[in-house]
Amino acid sequence: SIPDNLDVVIIGAGPSGSIAASLLHQQGKKVLVLEKQFFPRFSIGESLLPCCMQVIEEANMLDAVNNAGFQFKNGAAFQYGDRYTTFDFDDKFTTGPSTTFQVERAKFDKLLADTAQAQGVDIRFGQTVEQVDLSATPRLHVRNEQGKTYEVNAQYILDASGFGRVLPRLLDLERPSSLPTRSAIFTHVEDNITDANFDRNKILISVNPNDPSIWYWLIPFSNGRCSLGVVAEPEKLAQQGDDFNTQLLNMVEQEPSLHKLLKNSKILNNCNELKGYSANISTLATDKFALLGNAGEFLDPVFSSGVTIAMQSASFAVKSLIKQLNGESVDWQQDYAAPLMQGVNTFRTYVQAWYDTHFQQVIFHQDSNPKIKQMICSILAGYAWDMNNPYVSQSDRRLRTLVELCQETALNPV
Ligand code: FAD
Repeated sequence: SIPDNLDVVIIGAGPSGSIAASLLHQQGKKVLVLEKQFFPRFSIGESLLPCCMQVIEEANMLDAVNNAGFQFKNGAAFQYGDRYTTFDFDDKFTTGPSTTFQVERAKFDKLLADTAQAQGVDIRFGQTVEQVDLSATPRLHVRNEQGKTYEVNAQYILDASGFGRVLPRLLDLERPSSLPTRSAIFTHVEDNITDANFDRNKILISVNPNDPSIWYWLIPFSNGRCSLGVVAEPEKLAQQGDDFNTQLLNMVEQEPSLHKLLKNSKILNNCNELKGYSANISTLATDKFALLGNAGEFLDPVFSSGVTIAMQSASFAVKSLIKQLNGESVDWQQDYAAPLMQGVNTFRTYVQAWYDTHFQQVIFHQDSNPKIKQMICSILAGYAWDMNNPYVSQSDRRLRTLVELCQETALNPV
């Protein structure tokens, strides 16, 4: 039976949903989470950023995550032709955790949901939210696994439905993304990597030598496997063959160092494609609902920022929501959307600069200034909300100046 007098109903039990539920429950709020699927279930988004460990800690889930046997991660490596550069998150400008994990999301998302349940959160699986009514007290129409429908009322709705984008679809909040359509093809491989120089503690981002708008991820797990993916405009992928496996393998062949690294690897499951995942919305929150994580804006996977943004959004939204539930007034635009978008917009600057190749020029530049590298490293570690970092607070201007500097010194090496 569905509890009455609910403070909050949350759509989806991915990272943003489980974390938000845990934070609200710990503040004594009555929460119900409705999740369409049964866990464990596959999800993309496997490389975390250290910044999200702060939110995991807030939710009292740090021990569970630390003890789960996930692959340790301490940085990011980038490869372009024969240029190879690494960022060690220990060497960053912002204080805060400098390590994190690379996770199979089936296992990670189940762990977060299980931990929230163990804390006392009510999560119901196999429950699909189909309709919403905001004319009075917020109300959801839900279909259970037997196909029966029922209604749930709560003071507030958090939409943590990820690419399901439940409220944006039902309330017509969807807007075109500022980024062009790209597509990702990905799989898990038994990697059999023997190269002693390969650093399993870092995500490897490789650039296609013939076309720098095409890039690959290689995310090692702790069990001898890796997540492997390629991102490109859909037409460029389609030209590579008739099926996703052929397209991915042909793309990998075009990047000699990645191809060499994976020479003994075996694809474990058929490749999957996600196309046109970048998304935007007109309203992030009102006094009746807020969009968390991917249900709001999703940019691009290149900096592995998705789960970090999802968790930060949960943390920010819960702070405002506690105030509202306790009778204080909340300006959702100013108190939630604006601070969240600060970080999202920082990532946007760097995503755009990745695809126009300016950011690539910066990271592959030979003589990097250590202080500047620390500030850039902070952003790659997820600290995109640190206004003391000039590469956050004035990201566009600072990055432009830096690119000019790199271009000048590349032309006139001293
Ligand atoms: P999700 O994790 O998607 O969870 C949403 C949940 O809501 C799901 O369990 C779903 O079943 C449920 N749901 C959906 N509809 C309904 C409904 N109607 N009723 C009830 N429940 C519903 N991020 C990273 O941090 N690192 C990466 O390396 C990374 N790589 C990526 C690569 C690609 C190609 C893409 C596209 C994204 C990547 N991301 C990455 C982003 C990451 O996948 C997401 O940002 C992250 O999963 C968002 O979490 P979430 O909690 O918002 O939603």
